[in-house]
Amino acid sequence: MNEIIIGIDLGTTNSEVAIVENGQSHIITFENKKILPSVVGIDDEGHVLVGETARNQYLVYPDRTVKSIKRLMGQDTHVVMADKTYQPQEISAIILKRLKTIAEDYVGQPLDKAVITVPAYFSDAQRQATREAGEIAGLNVVRMINEPTAAALCYGAAQSEAKRMLVYDLGGGTFDVSIVNIDAGVVEVLSSHGDNHLGGDDFDQQIINYLSDHLLDQYGVNVDLHSKALARITRAAENAKLRLSDEPFVQIDEEYLLEYEGNPIHLSIELSRVDYEEMIQDYINATLDAVHIALKGAKLIASDIDEIILVGGSTRTPIIRERLFDEFGFEPHSEINPDLCVAMGAAIQAAMINGQNIDTVLVDVTPYTYGTSALGELYGQNYPYMYVPIIHKNSVLPSRKTEAFYTVHDGQESVNVSIYQGEDPDALANVQIGEFNIEGLRDVPAGNVITMTLDLDLNGILHVSAREKASGKEKSIVINNAISRFDNEALSNAKQRVQHLFGQNDGSRAWDSDHENSAQNEKPSVSAARQLISKAENLLDTVSNEDKEDLINLIETINNCIDADDDSGLTTATEQLTDVIYYLES
Ligand code: AMP
Repeated sequence: MNEIIIGIDLGTTNSEVAIVENGQSHIITFENKKILPSVVGIDDEGHVLVGETARNQYLVYPDRTVKSIKRLMGQDTHVVMADKTYQPQEISAIILKRLKTIAEDYVGQPLDKAVITVPAYFSDAQRQATREAGEIAGLNVVRMINEPTAAALCYGAAQSEAKRMLVYDLGGGTFDVSIVNIDAGVVEVLSSHGDNHLGGDDFDQQIINYLSDHLLDQYGVNVDLHSKALARITRAAENAKLRLSDEPFVQIDEEYLLEYEGNPIHLSIELSRVDYEEMIQDYINATLDAVHIALKGAKLIASDIDEIILVGGSTRTPIIRERLFDEFGFEPHSEINPDLCVAMGAAIQAAMINGQNIDTVLVDVTPYTYGTSALGELYGQNYPYMYVPIIHKNSVLPSRKTEAFYTVHDGQESVNVSIYQGEDPDALANVQIGEFNIEGLRDVPAGNVITMTLDLDLNGILHVSAREKASGKEKSIVINNAISRFDNEALSNAKQRVQHLFGQNDGSRAWDSDHENSAQNEKPSVSAARQLISKAENLLDTVSNEDKEDLINLIETINNCIDADDDSGLTTATEQLTDVIYYLES
């Protein structure tokens, strides 16, 4: 049998890993869960935490916890976690490594190959960063596919009739829409559009702003200056948002949020769904504008669409379904859990690469136009930066195109090549994604032919080369927004750092040694609860009798939940104890 390739959805908020077995794609379950929150943290003892435990500690230790790292992928930036700096790739690698272990535990053998999904609208730098994260995690990323495409594969694998689908994917941090044609097992993406910085996190932020404004009005306190209170408000805002998907009103209560001028501040306010929908209206409108751009890109109109597939947790927001119904006149599909179909589609793609028996073929497109600049005419005037598109938006992947250019000066020895992404006729109004020089050209009159080839691979990564036609002299680059790219040494250092965090730099086998908190060999939620208990015990001597009683009761409840293996009781009690400790410490 071929080596197993896993399918991974590396989400802004949550991640999943899936596999195809007996012709069926399914999400791998771990500790009775299918979803791993994309949150990474460092605990009191310097151990790495990934998933729910990290998310729980975010409230108490925001400075030791990182979430929504996907939003920073591809940027030349870093985050600080427990006083150490990490590049976004390293944090993503920690999440990937955890998913790798989950899959290895399930199949009982080491795994090192994966298909990872990325938003269709991810730029080249973001794709490169994702691939690097895979490498750091010890995974060979055999293919990256677009998230909406993966979702279409997941649905399309079961379709027999020809259909045109619109995949509307709104996650925590990104929005994508794709128009997909499914016919006789061929999934063909006709067009894609989206926004890399639009998602449920923005909805949360609207509620956070609403709560902060209320605190400022009511008490004159600027909550932005109190990081722990802000972390609590952030959690309260997301909870309120989730509840508003099912209820028309929510009551938001956060007791002892902070102390201001000697007084405790309690937050208590109601938010209605109608008011919330007004807060997020501009975002929803922007997504619908993108839907129309994607339709236009596919040369279709709304009535040509047979089905709408909802992907991403944020599509549970009722107004989204309503607005799509208004636009298209029928109900969107969401029978496959919108959080899971992307990873399941990635596993289907993995199985296809592996030659497993799956009756589907995938044809994907690029959501961007790529080109270069040249001396030309723009708006009736000579202009040195006229945009020359080479690979057009919605071209089928892989795509390889060559264009000829000419030197403009006699004896010109070098040419500077700039690569842009965008559609504006003025190259400078597009995004410059790469630049290089080709030097040592022949000493000939102007008009020396330079051919330029843009090659966009199946992963959506762009390879560029320029060649002096007469001599064959060539220069090529892989577009990487050089600043954020790891060189080999940096990659291997990052790999070691991440391995070290998992406590396995002794080279032992990853699949049986890198569990979170493997030393105790117990559930991460239990280890986290025990840490919280020891923290609470340290406080017992310094607090009032009343607080002491609260602490003791909660410690007892947590211990009972651990003994009874009561996961949901443990979560509630741990959250309560976290809140009390936060209040006592602040
Ligand atoms: P994803 O990136 O696909 O995992 O989507 C995560 C986003 O979906 C986060 O912003 C969540 O807060 C949001 N989300 C999850 N469940 C719901 C829900 N029931 N209603 C609204 N948003 C949700």
